[in-house]
Amino acid sequence: VIRSSRKEGTKMNQVIEETKIWQMMGTTITLQVGHEEPSRLLAELGEWLHVYEHRFSAHDATSELMAINQAAGRQAVIVHPELFELIKLGKAHSCARNSYLNIAIGPVVQKWHIGFEDALVPTKAEITELLLLTDPHQIQLDEKMKTVFLTKPGMMIDLGALAKGYIADKLITHCRERNAAFALVNLGGNIVVFGESPRRSDGAWRIGLRNPKGSREESLAVVKLSNQSLVTSGIYERYLQNGSSVYHHIIDPKTGFPVKNDVASLTILSDSSVDGEIWTTRLFGASSLEVLKALEEQPGIEGAVVTKENQFLYTKGF
Ligand code: ADP
Ligand code: MG
Repeated sequence: VIRSSRKEGTKMNQVIEETKIWQMMGTTITLQVGHEEPSRLLAELGEWLHVYEHRFSAHDATSELMAINQAAGRQAVIVHPELFELIKLGKAHSCARNSYLNIAIGPVVQKWHIGFEDALVPTKAEITELLLLTDPHQIQLDEKMKTVFLTKPGMMIDLGALAKGYIADKLITHCRERNAAFALVNLGGNIVVFGESPRRSDGAWRIGLRNPKGSREESLAVVKLSNQSLVTSGIYERYLQNGSSVYHHIIDPKTGFPVKNDVASLTILSDSSVDGEIWTTRLFGASSLEVLKALEEQPGIEGAVVTKENQFLYTKGF
């Protein structure tokens, strides 16, 4: 029990802290909650994780997302409103000017298969061919019918860049609705906190930013969060080594090859985690100075960049 309180004439209200860890969605998921019945809340959150994995996965042939991809060039598919919502949001940011986010990048990502045993370096000709299937404007949405249609056979939506943020936001909403005292959701680098940290007198949470060149435990900086999200994309987590060349997992939608710039990691601090996901990927291909400039211009988000030379740059509000 970490906190007890009693209002006049009511029974004792106890906050108990519990943490649970899952290995799923290709990463380690840690949920920490403070609640009267934390085990029950964590069990519910675990069920939601499975629902969401099934909804958004581009690796599971039976997922709701895969039904859209399998019907590409043939027919529109009616989807769950949440899947529709995330695809609509992803399409808008994929069609934005100078965006490096493209949720239609699926065919190219599948070809590289970075992060999997059978990852390989495709030929330029193969990539050129596949890029023809990655135009986000060819994702047709019908708001009223809640249908998604990929106009060409072979097109594939990949929500890998956005899903964890979207899911983290949903899990926090669930904690709030269940009257949790506090919660910390960590979906493999996507972190959202809610309520006051039980460890700190000021109630703020403190999250370490990893040093891209250091070990997993080594922090470059510590960020204070309060009812906020911190999302980091980096080139050091998932990559394919081929001789002396290293290919990481964020693909430039124009070239079909991993983005090339001076950025080792990009971190976004925002109220919602899906915004953090959108902007880490939208900006990942730009140079560190362009990233900083774009972040300063974008209201509601702050961010930090660690360059390949280990320079640490951040926005004023960060
Ligand atoms: P992670 O948390 O796995 O590092 P990110 O949020 O950085 O994930 O997104 C990377 C994933 O997004 C890739 O594994 C791939 O599935 C997908 N992806 C790669 N390049 C792009 C891109 N340019 N636009 C959208 N999605 C991408
Ligand atoms: Mg992302």
